[in-house]
Amino acid sequence: MTPTPLECPDLEVLFSELESGEHGPALKHAEHCPLCTAIIEEHRLLEKDLYRLADPLPPPDLVHKVMARVAAEPPPLRRELWTGVSILVASFVLGLGVLLTNDTALSGTGTALARFLVDGKALLEALLSGARALWSTAAAPVAAVLALLLFSSLFGIKRLAGNGPTPSEA
Ligand SMILES: [Zn+2]
Repeated sequence: MTPTPLECPDLEVLFSELESGEHGPALKHAEHCPLCTAIIEEHRLLEKDLYRLADPLPPPDLVHKVMARVAAEPPPLRRELWTGVSILVASFVLGLGVLLTNDTALSGTGTALARFLVDGKALLEALLSGARALWSTAAAPVAAVLALLLFSSLFGIKRLAGNGPTPSEA
């Protein structure tokens, strides 16, 4: 009942022997059978193609490579801009703090701010009324402090941006 050498084995048997690595009768037959050799070769190439398709898609270190490139490539200008923006925001918050801690203007601004927390539309009105109230009572010192904050933040941005490598300096 053993198959004659010329009789091609079932493909399932052939491939199972191929994958298990055991050199069974199907593979022994394939050694002398050009048809089965061709089938095995085709199967091998197809498998290789499948691996090649599936393999390079998610390189495990892709994110690390991208992050490293992002970290290395752009000049620190962006980070410095963010630093400058942070300084500006901090200055604004500080200025707002000056505004809010000024007791003569606080009554109007505080209630307006509370209203803003309830209704976002009141923000502009609150800021305007608060600023107006503050301006009428303590215009000069507030203006001086705000100007100082603004200039210091602008100088900070300029200084930070100046540290970056610029083509003209190279
Ligand atoms: Zn065969």
